[in-house]
Amino acid sequence: MTRPRNYQTEAIIIKKTRLGEADSILTLYTPELGKIQGFAKSLRKPKSKLAGHLELLTHSQVSLARGRNIDTITGSQTITSFLPLKTDLTLTSYALYATELVNQFTADHIENRTLFHLLLETMEKLCSSSNHDLLLRHFELHLLDEVGYRPQLQQCVVCHQPLEPIINAFCSSAGGVTCPGCSASQLVSYPISVNALKVLRFLQGNSYDTVSKLKIDPPLSRELETVMRGYLKYLLEREVKSAAWLDDLKKQANSLE
Ligand SMILES: [Zn+2]
Repeated sequence: MTRPRNYQTEAIIIKKTRLGEADSILTLYTPELGKIQGFAKSLRKPKSKLAGHLELLTHSQVSLARGRNIDTITGSQTITSFLPLKTDLTLTSYALYATELVNQFTADHIENRTLFHLLLETMEKLCSSSNHDLLLRHFELHLLDEVGYRPQLQQCVVCHQPLEPIINAFCSSAGGVTCPGCSASQLVSYPISVNALKVLRFLQGNSYDTVSKLKIDPPLSRELETVMRGYLKYLLEREVKSAAWLDDLKKQANSLE
């Protein structure tokens, strides 16, 4: 049986790459096909009927025609436009950070429905919740679950002994938390406080709705960000582009205060 030439899929537009004068290649994250690339002809022409339905950070129903090298986008209808993610620069940077992580940690054509729904939920909650740092840490931990890098937080990842309620260490190369004794043998490790470990465990084991009421003070929030950013950076072996942008943006915001 041959596959039909035309097909439709729900998709989140996670990346847009310019091609030539007016065309674009879009990276779409879909529930059934995983990450796919679509050629969008004349998308950047002012008269393009598709452009509004294929904006970055939009959840759309997309029609495609199979091609030899790349499929061509033939139609699109917005499901959710996520307007706040496009009008508030801070929210834009958070959402691009999330989509960039999905892009970096996935290969084309690998179905992962849970990851699709995690990304969609994170984009929804960015618009409706104010606890953005907690939301991003929750997203990072559950993304890592889905792509096979779940950090070990329950016991020392090296000697497998239970962790004492003291300052332990997060060792990216070992893939989780180590006791103080084992952290000495690791090249790079970050100290992790008792409270930070508690929060990471709570985030790792629960849905966002369960954890969303958690109040975290700024120093603890920064500690969690440092640990997670260090681990993600290690895994990607380079700074995620949006993460660098996020840092720049925070610097700018701080200098305005
Ligand atoms: Zn140990």
